[in-house]
Parts: sequence; structure tokens; C-alpha cells
Amino acid sequence: MKRRILILFSTLFALAAIGLVIIQISQTQRSAKMSDNLFNISVNNAIDEVFSQLDQMKVEDYISEKERYRLLRYRRIDDMNERMQDIVRNNSELFYDEHRVQFGVSSQDSAFPNPRAHLTLTEEHILTQYNTMLNARNRMLSSVGTYSSGNANPFDINNIIDATKFNYPLLDSLIREELIINGVDINPYIGVLMADRDTLLYCSPDANPDDLRTTAFKYTFHPHGITPDGNLYVVLSFPSSPIILSSDTNLYTLISICMIILISALFIFSVRTISSQRKLDEMKTDFINNMTHEIKTPIATISLACEMLEDDTVTSDTATRRNFINIISNENRRMRILIETLLQSAKMSSKKFSLNPKQIDLNAIVQTCVNNSQLTVSSRQGTIETRLSPIEGTLFADDLHITNTIHNLIDNAIKYSEQAPHIVITTRSEAGFAILEISDNGIGIAKEDQKHIFEKFYRVSTGDVHNVKGFGIGLNYVSQVVTLHKGRISLASELGQGSTFTISLPLA
Ligand code: ADP
Repeated sequence: MKRRILILFSTLFALAAIGLVIIQISQTQRSAKMSDNLFNISVNNAIDEVFSQLDQMKVEDYISEKERYRLLRYRRIDDMNERMQDIVRNNSELFYDEHRVQFGVSSQDSAFPNPRAHLTLTEEHILTQYNTMLNARNRMLSSVGTYSSGNANPFDINNIIDATKFNYPLLDSLIREELIINGVDINPYIGVLMADRDTLLYCSPDANPDDLRTTAFKYTFHPHGITPDGNLYVVLSFPSSPIILSSDTNLYTLISICMIILISALFIFSVRTISSQRKLDEMKTDFINNMTHEIKTPIATISLACEMLEDDTVTSDTATRRNFINIISNENRRMRILIETLLQSAKMSSKKFSLNPKQIDLNAIVQTCVNNSQLTVSSRQGTIETRLSPIEGTLFADDLHITNTIHNLIDNAIKYSEQAPHIVITTRSEAGFAILEISDNGIGIAKEDQKHIFEKFYRVSTGDVHNVKGFGIGLNYVSQVVTLHKGRISLASELGQGSTFTISLPLA
């Protein structure tokens, strides 16, 4: 995939993902708001129901036993209505003092006799009381059930005027019951607050009085239906956020967040795979180009040298002949190292690779490698300096791979220096390890490249300049050899200043 298409693809995906997240957030906010509203409505309904239950109880309570039986005996609904109007009038101190209400004559048990559009507020209220009484009567008719409040009777005539004597625990349990019926399964704190907003006539156990005083769930309450002046409030507060009510919403939000994370992870994974694929493609092309070049050049040089050697006039001069022979053997060595490294690297990746360790003389191997490279270094007007200290201990290692390793590092030191290379090779033993250091005055390696330098096929990007050929497998091979010997390799390098590769191999 082309780089530009990949960028376009990533941008579009990122935009789509951001869009999805925004939609999800606004959806979550909306449903949180909705569940908040639903919660408020449920609480309001529950409280309305409690108040109407209290009203019902109250009316039932005022209709004496005798009155109930008398009401039940009425055959005609109108007679019953009339009787109930009487009850309302006779108990005017409980309902209203003065009223001029003409109840409509209803043929059904309608709570709202017609017409009622021009009723005054007081009349409306009386009609509501009347309605409540009708309900009470219906209940009596259907079940002849009597309200048996016993001690919990909230409407005891003696307690009527004194609000403090109201049966608040009954109110408390009614509210809890109704909240559960309305789907609110959070246990609330309940209180009854005086209009001065300070005195709590009732406060459920563990409730925080300050929460109750400031709560938004506040309902005007007339304990005895007498005083419509809003003296008291029933107040509710909830210990946890109402949002937990909407467990469905939370579940869907959680699922969509997980999906977004999953999709993003998959996207990142695919982009990385695509870009590493691209990189591999580039590396493959580079590899083939370099390989062709690296093999073609020595072959061309060798065939040229051979042609020259065939010429008798050239071969008659010993020095010239030696020079051509040297060229052939150097190019041959270069190719051998190259092919050896390629083969070893391929072997290592196929996992069929095994070491053949034996006791080795590190300093002797270093010396051989230095001798082999001397010619190449001299051709660049460079030097190789050796500072070899005796190794105190026995080193078991595979001499072939150690030799290849040293060759690779020396070759790199020569290749990656723009000026005449000055290479210093140091050996010493330190804390049970044989230490080998190869330093150069080359181009150095930038910090960000140092992290990747031992990765297979990694080459420091030189832009469009391809003056130094290579495959990016040398250092990977070196680090694998060192690891297989249970050793360590490190690099200290500064751009433009040179590099030092340090290898530590454990001594027996
Ligand atoms: P290559 O075949 O490219 O030389 P290597 O694995 O040997 O592959 O090296 C990987 C990269 O590390 C090289 O492309 C080069 O950029 C960088 N490098 C290796 N050795 C040196 C060094 N001594 N000085 C500067 N850069 C180096």
C-alpha cells in the first residue's frame, strides 16, 4: 500500500473513530439525562401515590364504622353522593370551613361531576376530597376491607392539629414501598421539614440532615389535609447517583467503549502490519539491489585481474603480478565473508543452528582478523591498532563465529568512516568476562538508530545516498552469536565522532 493511501486511510479511520466517540458520549449524556428524568418522575409518582394513600386512609378513618355500613346500604348512587356531601359538610373542620359547592349529579361513579371548568380552587380541592371518598367507598364495596391501622393510625382525632404527632414512621415505610413499586430500588433518606427549612420534624436513621435540607426532592405535605398553606415538606435524598438506575444504559456504554477500544486496537495492529509489510518490501528490494551490487563488483574485479594476469607483459613483472593476485584474493575474501554471513544468518533463523564451542585464544583470533583486514585498511590510508591484554581464564567459544563476528565489526568500522579509518581493538578480562572492544573514528550512529541497530535488515537511513552497500544483517548476526555464547554486546556512539562496540563473553 502506498504511503499516501496509508495516511489517508489512517486519517479517515481516526476521523470515523472520533465521530463515533463523540456520538457515543452525547448518546450517553442523553440517556443519563433521560434516566435522571425517569428517576425524578418515578420518585414524584411514588410520592403522589403515598399522599393519595394517606388521603384515602384519612377519609376512611373519618367515616365512622356506622357511617360505612350506612353508605354500603345505599342502593342509589345519588343517595350515596348526597350522604357523602353531608359527610364533607359535617366534617368541614377537616375538609374546609365554608363552601358553596354544588356537586354534580352523576349517574356513574365519576370523581369529577360536570361541568367543572368554572370551579374555584377551593371547590377543586373539595372535589378531590370527594373523589378520594369515592375511592374509599369503592374499596369498601369491593372488599369490605377496613383500614385497620391500629396504633399506627395517623389520623387519630387527637393528633389532628399537632403535626408533630403525625405517624412519620408510617409515612417513611409507605414511601419506601411505593418507591420500590415505581422501580426506584435505591434506599432513600427521608425527612419531614418545616417551612423554615431548618427544623426537621422527622429524619430517617443515618440520614444527613444537611442533605435533607438542601435536597431537590421536596414535596409540600399536608399531614391532615387541613392546611393547604404549605407548612411542611416531605424531603428525600438518595445516597448514590440516580444514574446507577440505568444499568442498561451503562451496560451498552461499556460495550460500545470496549468495541471502540477493540476496533482501535485492531486498526493500530493492521496499520502496523501494513507498514511493517511495506518496510519489509523495501528491505527486500534493497537487499536484492545490494546483493547484486556486492557480488557483481568483486566478480568484475576478479575477472579483470584474471584478464590482466593472462597478459604476459603484465605477469613478467613480479610486483604487478603480486598486486593482481592480492586483488583477487581480497575480493574473494570479501565474497566469502559475505556469503558466510548470509548463510549463517539464514541458518540462525531456521533454528537448526548450533555452536561448536572449544577453548579459543581470543587474542590470536583478533590478530588473524587484523592481518586479514590490513590490506583494505591500508588502501584507505587507515590504521588498525591492537591493545591486547592476556585473558585471565578459559574462553569456550565457536572460533568460526567469533572470527566472523570480529570480521564484521572491523568491516563496518572501515565501511562507515568517511575519512581514513583509525580502528582500535582492545581485549582484556574483567570480572569473569573476556572483553573485546572495537572502536572507530567513523560516522557514528544517532541515538534513535542505536535502539534498532541489531535488528535484522536494519540499516541507518542515508536518504538517497547509497554509497555504502550492505544488507543490514551483519550486526544482527553478531548480536545473535554473542547471545548464543551467553555474552553481551553494547554500543557507545556519537554521531560524527565514531563508535565503540563492546562484547563481553563469559569465561569458564
Ligand atoms: P550493513 O550490511 O548495512 O553494514 P550491519 O548490520 O552490519 O549491516 O549494520 C547495520 C547498520 O548499522 C549499517 O547500515 C550502518 O548504518 C550502521 N553501522 C554499523 N556499524 C557501524 C559503524 N561502525 N559506524 C557507523 N555506523 C555503523
